Amino acid sequence: MFSCCNLKMPDETIRRRKGNDSTVQSETKGDSAEDEEMSSSGESEEDENLPPPVPPVEPPLHEVGIVEAPDWPTGISEIQERDYGLALPKRLFAIGPMVALAIIFYVGTVTVYMHTMWWPLATIGSFIHFFIFLSWNYATLNNFILAAKVGGGYVPKKWKIDPEVEIKGDISKRLQWCRICDGYKPPRSHHCSKCGRCVLKMDHHCLWINNCVGHRNHAFFVRFLIAAIIGCAHATIILGMSIYHAIHIGWYLRFGDGTDPIIEMTITSLLVTVAALALALGVTVALSALLLFQARYIRNNKTGVEEYIFDKARSRMKEEKYRGTIFVYPYEIGWRRNIAEVLANFKGKQSGNGVWWPIRGDCTQFTFSEEQLRQKKLKRSHARFVRITKSSRGGYCGAIRAAPIACICQPLSDQPRMEIKEGETWIVTGGNKRWLYGFKQGSDAKGWLPRSCTEFLPERPHLE
Ligand SMILES: [Zn+2]
Ligand SMILES: [Zn+2]
Repeated sequence: MFSCCNLKMPDETIRRRKGNDSTVQSETKGDSAEDEEMSSSGESEEDENLPPPVPPVEPPLHEVGIVEAPDWPTGISEIQERDYGLALPKRLFAIGPMVALAIIFYVGTVTVYMHTMWWPLATIGSFIHFFIFLSWNYATLNNFILAAKVGGGYVPKKWKIDPEVEIKGDISKRLQWCRICDGYKPPRSHHCSKCGRCVLKMDHHCLWINNCVGHRNHAFFVRFLIAAIIGCAHATIILGMSIYHAIHIGWYLRFGDGTDPIIEMTITSLLVTVAALALALGVTVALSALLLFQARYIRNNKTGVEEYIFDKARSRMKEEKYRGTIFVYPYEIGWRRNIAEVLANFKGKQSGNGVWWPIRGDCTQFTFSEEQLRQKKLKRSHARFVRITKSSRGGYCGAIRAAPIACICQPLSDQPRMEIKEGETWIVTGGNKRWLYGFKQGSDAKGWLPRSCTEFLPERPHLE
């Protein structure tokens, strides 16, 4: 199908503007904070004569239109599409899925038992109500298993763009390279350190399904959240009513009209039911918060990772006073299409092939990857050498002796807390007040190290 001719890129333009006068500017501007610092005295005079920089106005979608996903080959064969990494039993045999399944079964079983006492299955209404509750259980379990089994979808190792696709420019400047998978990352893919693979349109690695949430299972994951929230809210009502009737059994026996449910509970069964109620309520609240985040991401056609990169792009542009490369988020194609991209298919199958996407007319398939490369370059230019002044063991509690305050104020990240030894030299590329993020010189493993166990060295590393 693609062999008749080389596949051409649509007309591509990388949008660059300088301030309000739209002058083209070198992409390397702002690559080095040091360069900026060094040249800042010269720029400040210029700045005085310029109007204050204002963020450029993004043209509305109806003006630029939507460019549908090109029909280029994905470079992923049908066999590779079914590469789930682990067989389902192995995937589920981990702490997260075991706890999640235990909660589903526990709340489900206790609620079913209580339902038979609170509203005995003697009427059609009771049967219908009971069936509705069981349906939530089925939907929760089914979507949970599918989300865990299918995963986000792995990018094959050594992935590269099909040679039939003709790409303008140097591809290494348009797509990110994954050293671990030894291949390019397709647009919107990210490497998951837990899975050890690049994942298509990765949203996050979910501890509960012991797998990534991404292109192939995003709909299953969202359906699981919706079913679990409704199911647990329903269970909360049934369990709450059952406990209420059990506590007031004396009143119902004395003053009831004979139609009220009579529920007898021992201390043990009361405790078991209260525990189920607490779990059901807790799950409803926690998953509702997660679903709200997911709803916002899906509405904007973003993943959790893309939201983070988008925020960084905005702060980069602000730092560059809007005189560097202007980034426009390419996948925002109107809220209806945004939602349909993830949730429109009844069977839970994603629209699109996970590699090429419908985009805004003023962007290209590589707009997002190019922004990631830009941010990476900027991050590397900020890299610093540090010497370890105090040893610290790795892990979440490893810094308790060497840096107790840092140990309490953990960074909001699931990247590893590294073991460090006095005298070692590390290269750090980021951090916060208490922690630095980086890697040991000569090693690839990245993670967090307590800032108070380090001292900055005057020399700066030159990273490739
Ligand atoms: Zn990778
Ligand atoms: Zn993962």
